Amino acid sequence: MATKLLLITFAICRLIVTVGLTVDPTELLRLVVDGQLSVDPSDVDTASKDFGLMSRAEPLAVLHPGSAQDVARLVRAAYSSAHGFTVSARGHGHSINGQAQTNNGVVIEMSGGGSSGRVMSRLRSGSGRVSEKDVLRSTLEYGLAPKSWTDYLYLSVGGTLSNAGISGQAFNHGPQISSVDELDVVTGRGELLTCSEEKNSELFHAVLGGLGQFGIITRARIALEPAPQRVRWIRVLYSNFSAFTKDQEFLISLHGQPSTHKFDYVEGFVIVDEGLINNWRSSFFSPSNPVKITSINSQGEIEGLLKKLDFVPTSVFTTDLPYVDFLDRVHKAEMKLRSKGLWDVPHPWLNLFVPNQGFLTSTRGCSRVFWAIRQAGPSSFTP
Ligand SMILES: Cc1cc2nc3c(=O)[nH]c(=O)nc-3n(C[C@H](O)[C@H](O)[C@H](O)COP(=O)(O)OP(=O)(O)OC[C@H]3O[C@@H](n4cnc5c(N)ncnc54)[C@H](O)[C@@H]3O)c2cc1C
Repeated sequence: MATKLLLITFAICRLIVTVGLTVDPTELLRLVVDGQLSVDPSDVDTASKDFGLMSRAEPLAVLHPGSAQDVARLVRAAYSSAHGFTVSARGHGHSINGQAQTNNGVVIEMSGGGSSGRVMSRLRSGSGRVSEKDVLRSTLEYGLAPKSWTDYLYLSVGGTLSNAGISGQAFNHGPQISSVDELDVVTGRGELLTCSEEKNSELFHAVLGGLGQFGIITRARIALEPAPQRVRWIRVLYSNFSAFTKDQEFLISLHGQPSTHKFDYVEGFVIVDEGLINNWRSSFFSPSNPVKITSINSQGEIEGLLKKLDFVPTSVFTTDLPYVDFLDRVHKAEMKLRSKGLWDVPHPWLNLFVPNQGFLTSTRGCSRVFWAIRQAGPSSFTP
């Protein structure tokens, strides 16, 4: 305890020396935590940046919480502070525009390890700090997996639940926030509350998709289902955007059908030009690459479904692979881009929800979307 206090005192002294403080340092000094309050320049630098690399905000300190109580202690200190200071939760920092940053406040580093939680019957209970990959790893030990995913697994559970968690399964199960049973949340006053549909339901619904503005998730209980062992991954090419969106609409309209009469996962990607930037997910291919193109060899219902679609007939690429490899496919592309120095670059991304009502299948809608894609580069479409 004495060593901890000494370290914190040292940290606060450094704060006073190096930063023009808006926070009374004694307020932070009073904070005794199970984890660590750090002013280490490399911690501060990491917390100042995100995946977008387009905005920078330097916190005074970074909290590596040792428990949910640590998160509550810090938020309580900020709430009752005479001068006030801001607190921001940071998961894996994959935001695009500084959403997890704070200037002259304290960033809580939610992804600093910790237990990956327990699997209880068909529900999973884990801390808000673990990554989606950790969740997959621990649930698969029981032959189970969450129902809905993001395309990329190196995101924190708390971070994705604060957004939505959308991918090719969303048409079947909704975004990830639809499969949450219960949360532990630290509120703006620093109370640690359990919430669900039945208990503290306003808080529950505010925090899910709440961009970290309504509370900090410290534990999440998520619905699971039996995990498939393998995936048949079928990719086809369209030369007509309108046909592509019509087929996506058709495929998601099958969501009430028995599992043999629909696909489990539907997603699209627009390739404007060949090239590394446009192939960053490397899961898509070009008609000028004949090696990857095979003929349809699927049987039964799958073949029947494919026959109803309007893609370029010779452009079917089928792969059978383990479920884990399918879910982790973007990581392979990440490794390739990292090796070429193309991962840690600015990412001016834009996410849009475009309502149905025929916009994407209309000529006007298509031409607008195509204009935007030409300016922007790689674009994925999740129906
Ligand atoms: C390569 C890549 C692929 C992606 N693919 C998808 C996809 O397929 N589907 C999809 O939906 N999204 C996708 N995203 C977006 C991603 O889900 C969000 O950016 C998500 O917020 C990132 O999680 P993170 O842990 O990195 O969050 P951070 O950037 O650390 O934080 C994001 C927001 O959540 C808040 N926050 C973080 N932790 C908590 C917590 N415990 N409690 C409360 N608030 C918290 C932060 O304050 C911030 O506002 C992708 C992002 C990348 C970089």
